[in-house]
Amino acid sequence: MVIRNTMKTPNLGKKVRVGDLLVSEGLVTQNQIEAALSNQDKRKKKRIGNLLIEKGLITEDQLLLALSAKFQMRLVDLKDITPSQTALNALSSDLVGQLKVIPLEADGKHIVVATSDPTDHTIADTLQFNTNCNIELVSATSNQISAAIEKYYSHAEDSMDLLIDGMVEDEIEVEEEVDDSSIKETDSQVIKFVNGILLDAYHKGASDIHLEPKSGKGPIRVRYRIEGECHIEHQIPATFKRAILSRVKIMSNLDIAERRKPQSGKILLRVDKKKIEYRVEITPTVGDQEDAVLRILSSSRPLSLKEMKFSEPNLERFKNIIAKPYGMILCVGPTGSGKTTSLHSALSHINKPNRKIWTAEDPVEITQDGLRQVQVNPKIKYSFQEALRSFLRADPDVIMIGEMRDAETAKTAIEASLTGHLVFSTLHTNSAPESVVRLVEMGMNPFNFADAMLGILAQRLVRMLCNYCKKPLLADKDAHEKLVQIYGREYFVNDGLEKYSDEFYLMNRVGCPKCAQSGYRGRLALHELLDGTEAIKVAIKQNTPLERLRDIAIEDGMRTLKMDGIQKILNGLIDLDQVNKVVL
Ligand SMILES: [Zn+2]
Repeated sequence: MVIRNTMKTPNLGKKVRVGDLLVSEGLVTQNQIEAALSNQDKRKKKRIGNLLIEKGLITEDQLLLALSAKFQMRLVDLKDITPSQTALNALSSDLVGQLKVIPLEADGKHIVVATSDPTDHTIADTLQFNTNCNIELVSATSNQISAAIEKYYSHAEDSMDLLIDGMVEDEIEVEEEVDDSSIKETDSQVIKFVNGILLDAYHKGASDIHLEPKSGKGPIRVRYRIEGECHIEHQIPATFKRAILSRVKIMSNLDIAERRKPQSGKILLRVDKKKIEYRVEITPTVGDQEDAVLRILSSSRPLSLKEMKFSEPNLERFKNIIAKPYGMILCVGPTGSGKTTSLHSALSHINKPNRKIWTAEDPVEITQDGLRQVQVNPKIKYSFQEALRSFLRADPDVIMIGEMRDAETAKTAIEASLTGHLVFSTLHTNSAPESVVRLVEMGMNPFNFADAMLGILAQRLVRMLCNYCKKPLLADKDAHEKLVQIYGREYFVNDGLEKYSDEFYLMNRVGCPKCAQSGYRGRLALHELLDGTEAIKVAIKQNTPLERLRDIAIEDGMRTLKMDGIQKILNGLIDLDQVNKVVL
């Protein structure tokens, strides 16, 4: 069946007042709209269409039909349509889940995607950004879309469970010491199982796979790290452990006879034209066992700045900073705080054919067309410093150095940014102002650094409340007061944050199947953006102490990680537990 419509969707004015539209369609009266809006629960900020559906004044079908007509979008019945495999491959399950859309047809250049929200024009933008394809949106009811997502995107789990159930061990009597000599790493079910784990973890968005054999008859526990936390995903009968470990070693070109010393290797898989790399670390553990930990490196796409969930003022300030022709921009935070993601997002914003952009990374996890990316390799003494020197001889406009690990690299990077290049890098420091102090302690000339510094972005990753189950609950004065105190009363008022009233709601986590009952789904970053303003530059040159430097920065518009966290709590994206976890 051909769904594509060759007629281009006309570009209608972006502001369509859904209420007006429904009135003009004769579905509701103006009075009903006003009544619905006036009773609206302020914290939930539901849209008028959904409010009317909840009140039973219209059905979703009616709303969708009216909106589809208005946006000249075709309304499709998903019961009649089977999405093509190419279309399903074109969108990741993360993206589909996040946007609540389902792809129907694709041919490499165009994708037809069904949405239940024709008014949300960011959907097409996000899809286009992530796929580089033209997007044609059609509309379908939200129930049908959810059902289709469930049907077409959750198969990885089912097949893993089937595979484990199918791992028969009936002919093997488990005696005191587990006898696994009868199961070889070449057994087809072992091969299938290991492949299955590699793909299953990747599809679930895990960053690491942990294979942990217990001693004796204990099973192998398989844990995935997803969104920063480990979860037990599978338990495999003990009889398979030696075979599974051997299989992992074979795939990573390691010595299967060596069982007393750690070994590291890697596995490359190609799935749907996508390369996935697994960095494998085998570690001998007590009880004559070996653990394997596999870090998943997929060549993923960068996020757009918009997807980074910056606060509005931070987004504006960050865009201004990276629009400068030369100088230094740092992204700081501990390991796993998403620094590389932010730098790539910044680079993607300025990645144009008229600029030469070099990057040195370890490892290269995100790839972008247009960038020239280098994987540094300390084993052969190809260090960040080495790469940076080479870039400077290779006609750069923009240079990204994955990390400034030593004083020499930092010094060269600062010099490069003072001689007409835009330099991006990262540091392992806790806060933006602390990075200034650290660099000076590392022996940087404060005058040079002050001149070079455009901005420093500190960040932390926190888990977002699950969009499927989070719930607004009335919060009391104490809860509000706590947020005010963390933020600082004066700034809380000046920044116009929500005052306490008897209708003060905070989003709470609940737990549902979509979030494995955790109440959290997906992650976002808290940001602290220090601008290289005149006052800051002067303060750096005068070796101003950390506390004072931070105060000046806040006066100049910086909001600390904590403050950004409070804003995101008030916006219903995260909860206080998450903020407390990452900032003191
Ligand atoms: Zn949930």
